[in-house]
Amino acid sequence: MKAAVYHGIRDVRVEEVETPHPAPGEMVARVLRCAVCGTDKRIYLHGQKNVVPPAVTGHEIVAEVAELGEGVDEPALGTRVIVATPVGCGECICCRREQYNLCENFKALGYDYPGGFAEYMAVPARAVAQGNVMPVPVSLDPDHAALIEPLSCVLNGQEYVAAQPGDRALVFGAGPIGLMHAGALKAKGCDPVVVADVAPDRLAFVTDLGVGRPIHTTSDDTVAEILDAVGGERFDVVITACSVKAVQGYALRLARQKARVSFFAGIPKDDPVLPIDTNHLHYNEISVFGAFASNLRHYRQAAEMVAHGDLAADKFVTHRFKLDEIAKAYQTIEAGRGVKIVVDCT
Ligand SMILES: [Zn+2]
Ligand SMILES: [Zn+2]
Repeated sequence: MKAAVYHGIRDVRVEEVETPHPAPGEMVARVLRCAVCGTDKRIYLHGQKNVVPPAVTGHEIVAEVAELGEGVDEPALGTRVIVATPVGCGECICCRREQYNLCENFKALGYDYPGGFAEYMAVPARAVAQGNVMPVPVSLDPDHAALIEPLSCVLNGQEYVAAQPGDRALVFGAGPIGLMHAGALKAKGCDPVVVADVAPDRLAFVTDLGVGRPIHTTSDDTVAEILDAVGGERFDVVITACSVKAVQGYALRLARQKARVSFFAGIPKDDPVLPIDTNHLHYNEISVFGAFASNLRHYRQAAEMVAHGDLAADKFVTHRFKLDEIAKAYQTIEAGRGVKIVVDCT
């Protein structure tokens, strides 16, 4: 079979490799689509500890069940599925609580295990047993189904901030994830949904996708810029979808009474300590949450949202390349163009 093999930084080659066959408890899926994530870009440009070359990455996977290992009888052969990323150890306290994304021995498809930038992929027994292989309707466009994984992560973050109709919402960052957050907040009836970014070309997508109101921030006085643009009223929900520490500080300052703030994006690990005015949190009853990846129920919620058209999925998918053209997919994401880039592995 063909696979896009990651050999190291900026070195991904489409090669002929051995087609996987399932060991007992495993499953092999024929990949239809795999979308490119921000983390795929990071691995491509900088490498990552849990991706040891030669490796096949890609975790935003839509597939078809192709072969079942001994002891596995569902989903049936040919079923259209998505394959969830987190693989829990099954033994730690988080796994016993079915919080697989928080497993103390967390592993992931497309990182520790081969992923979806290939014609076929093996799903490890642990992932099969955990329920990572989830049927989706064939009526769902596979390009759109490839959005389910990133949207599931967004919904994990949004579970904590519990947006209500009429909440004033602010998202920092107009990358694919920030735009999805905005789309989901809009679907929940937040008003306004404001998306702030320093890059005007990214903000153009806010308008194109109809997910909210773009605000172009240009100076270090971002808090004042945003407040000026919205008439001085702060926000009930604030989500940081960019890896800039200062933005976490802005987010807290822009939070109003009873606000919920999500530090959705991680920040560079060499400088993660942020001074905060804890009295601002105390007197205003502000809550701050983290979020990491997603759990299986968030995939189900995301699948429903995409199937119901709650997200303008056709607008989110701006590029599609064949597996052979994966170099173009990486060029596109490196240049910061488009929203979601989908690789067609058929
Ligand atoms: Zn992803
Ligand atoms: Zn575990």
